Amino acid sequence: IQNNTSLLEFGKKHVTAGLARSVDGVMTKGAGSYVEFGDGKVFLDFTTGIGVTGLGHCHPKVSGAAAKQCMELVHGQCSIAFTEPYLQLIERLLPMMPDPSLDSFFFWNSGSEAIEAAMKMARLFTGKQNIIAMQGAYHGRTFGAMAVTKSKTIYSEGFHPLMPGVFSIPYPYWHQLSLPPTTEQSEITAQCLNQLHLVLSQQTAPRDTAAILIEPLLGEGGYVPAPAEFLKGVREICDKEGILLIIDEVQSGFARTGKNFSIEHAGVRPDIMTIAKGLANGFPLSGVVSRKELTDKLKPGSMGGTYAGNAVACAAAVAVADVLKEEKILENVNARSKELFAGLNELRSKPSVSPVILDVRGQGLMVAVEFASPTGTSPYDSFVKPSAPARLSSRIAKRCQEKGLLILTTSVYEVIRFIPPLNITQEDLNKGIKIFSEAVEEVVR
Ligand code: PMP
Repeated sequence: IQNNTSLLEFGKKHVTAGLARSVDGVMTKGAGSYVEFGDGKVFLDFTTGIGVTGLGHCHPKVSGAAAKQCMELVHGQCSIAFTEPYLQLIERLLPMMPDPSLDSFFFWNSGSEAIEAAMKMARLFTGKQNIIAMQGAYHGRTFGAMAVTKSKTIYSEGFHPLMPGVFSIPYPYWHQLSLPPTTEQSEITAQCLNQLHLVLSQQTAPRDTAAILIEPLLGEGGYVPAPAEFLKGVREICDKEGILLIIDEVQSGFARTGKNFSIEHAGVRPDIMTIAKGLANGFPLSGVVSRKELTDKLKPGSMGGTYAGNAVACAAAVAVADVLKEEKILENVNARSKELFAGLNELRSKPSVSPVILDVRGQGLMVAVEFASPTGTSPYDSFVKPSAPARLSSRIAKRCQEKGLLILTTSVYEVIRFIPPLNITQEDLNKGIKIFSEAVEEVVR
């Protein structure tokens, strides 16, 4: 295949239609906050491959550590023996854990697999079956993960029946509760905890409920931080009823929210925590963390996987942990976060724009802008009716792309998400905010 255009056409013919694609092109290179396509176009990347390349594309220390490991040992196999990078990674992660009780690790490849393992563990540790998940949640595409994914029907449409024993309550999100965006957090918390009490008394009794599974900052569902009081309330119910709390930090972990893990904002202890994405800056690696006292119940061989905890991916993750510390990434996230919020709120204050922006929210560099749906359209219309006009958020993202910025939409509501590199410079952040602001003004004009 000779050139970029024929490569693109080849892909369209031979790559499954089941993949969505927001850029009509072939990505060839990445460096820091920028990606390049085969046709020579360069974009400022505010998607970080959906929250993965937090340290930017091809961070030299991470790529260098992986390259070095490639020449030493690529594949050991976790059921044959430990590898050095696997253990070094645990050594790095232990002091980062949101609670010192989290001292037992298992690495896998993807976020979905980590969720599967977490749910299997919860069943085994408690001897109970059912899982309570959150409406709006995204946990992955494998069968178990799909059953607890409740952000969009596209992930399960045509694939039923899903794993049984899953119940759900609304996420503490004003839009899901049909409340105005200005609703007090205490009101939202009270309503959702009430829903949890109802589910436990009407649908799945505590003696049948193994775990409650929560993203502390709703990811694909729209970047909504859960109020700390809600998470504390859930923790109390879990303690009282012998239910385990599984915290999914796949997207929100590794400095993304201005802390190592989003759950630290609430000061709540997870029983099981899932990690991935930012963990290895692009190398396929995920993990499940729990307490040794619980994981000692697992029989040898009950966990595992051919590529699980691959040595190259672990070596990359060791370098990520070191860079997070050495390059003071948390400081940058918190400084840039303030500027991002300020920039977005400035845009929102413009008379031409303020009627269409409902909410600016998030934590650290995981921030969303929610727009009002154009009159007459609802999430149901835009996802179910083929004739529905292009969504406002999609038109804004497209305009950003034309101006050289890659940015993500999300949710069934009209949400644009900002998940730029954690080490982005002030200059690049401002550049992105400027492009986004211009795109919004042009589209809503
Ligand atoms: N959990 C969360 C919170 C996620 O954001 C994702 C991926 N977007 C997953 C789980 C699934 O991860 P993966 O795509 O690696 O299977």
